[in-house]
Amino acid sequence: MSTTAIFGSYVLVRRDGAQEVLRDHWVLVEGRRIAAVTPSRPEAAEIHDRPGRFVLPGLLNLHNHCFSEAVARSHTEDGHGREGGRSIVYTVLLPLTKTGLAVLSPQERLAIARLGILQLLKGGAATVMEPFRNGLPEMFEAAEAMGLRFYGAPYLFSTADAKAGPDGTVRYAGDDGAADLATWNALHARWEGRAEGRIRLAMSPHATDTCAPDLLRACAARARELGVPITTHLAQSEDEVATIRARHGGRTPAEYLDWLGLLAPDLLAAHCIASTDDDLRLMAARGASVLNCPRVFARAGRTAAFGRFAEHGIRTLVGTDGYNMDLLAELNAASLISKVVSGRAEIAASPALIDAVTWEAAAAIRRPDLGVIAPGAAADLTVVDLTHPHLQPLREPRRALVALANRANVDQVMVDGRLLIDRGAYLHGDEAAIVQAGAAAIERIWDLPEARAALT
Ligand SMILES: [Zn+2]
Repeated sequence: MSTTAIFGSYVLVRRDGAQEVLRDHWVLVEGRRIAAVTPSRPEAAEIHDRPGRFVLPGLLNLHNHCFSEAVARSHTEDGHGREGGRSIVYTVLLPLTKTGLAVLSPQERLAIARLGILQLLKGGAATVMEPFRNGLPEMFEAAEAMGLRFYGAPYLFSTADAKAGPDGTVRYAGDDGAADLATWNALHARWEGRAEGRIRLAMSPHATDTCAPDLLRACAARARELGVPITTHLAQSEDEVATIRARHGGRTPAEYLDWLGLLAPDLLAAHCIASTDDDLRLMAARGASVLNCPRVFARAGRTAAFGRFAEHGIRTLVGTDGYNMDLLAELNAASLISKVVSGRAEIAASPALIDAVTWEAAAAIRRPDLGVIAPGAAADLTVVDLTHPHLQPLREPRRALVALANRANVDQVMVDGRLLIDRGAYLHGDEAAIVQAGAAAIERIWDLPEARAALT
């Protein structure tokens, strides 16, 4: 069995249910498990003895879109591509990914997936939950080949061709729900548990306004039969709230999901920015989790404040949503935006934000072996180099991590006992080739006439 010992000037562990930072400890990995956390240097075949590192559990980034947000990149900033300040989900992201998937070859789709996963790993993530269109099964291939721990979440839509009218209302065109559930089941049969269990699936009805009640009920029943997590988009915009209220007897999107039995501890709901305080109280009571991705909303001048959800007692996690997959910078944004919105400096403190991508994230997907450094846990680690000039001098490493660090400081990422990133570089492929191939495939979408019209 392979053995690896990694030295941390700081090692994040848990004691009596709370975070604790150990000084000058070693993490010993045997095979795919953490064997020990010890102050003395252990025997190991491979030794990483680099002082100044902060050894964290492998970070969990549970909301991301490698493909759709890559299409938006460098096109939708500064208000470009937005009609009347509206969300770009139904005007840009969904239409272009649908067309894009149809015109690209499987090799091009794989190239985009590989580029996205490279960015995720270099952004500090060891585990990713990724909702994507079910015409992109190459996401699974790329995740398996590149070594990431991966919860693939192929979408289910009542209509895969959702279009928003000038009033923002999403209209249905056809019924794809049964076909999407069949596709999801086929992907589950093929991929669940692959790569020694690193590849898993989540049930992924796209959103409240693209999924009708019968589909949402069927998704929940199937997910609970299999014991897989459920993830969806919830209250992403005021337009969605208005659509659901009109369609479903005045219910808010959260009430709509509750009516259908989806608001429960196995639900991870992305965004919730247009949720009312009553909605958030309901979510807290039901034990559902919020996936907070503050930067994609900040891009549009909208606030998605971690602190607002957390203060309602909701398990609140942080994900990157695919636009900029720097998970450390996302924590920084979650901190700053929460403080600005609340006018309080103490809100969204560093330990809570670190929990949001470690312990609490693992709990939300019922994985007690993840998100923690302890004997017996999975050997997933994210190691941050705190020796960079902008991180010195240093007193409290968790505060430095959230307030001052970014992805350029990610030194190592280990998944399942295998080092994927070392000294900041991907070890198992040519980064330049991955970048070139992925970017070229995205540029093919940008060259489509409909992309030229939508992306200005
Ligand atoms: Zn999303």
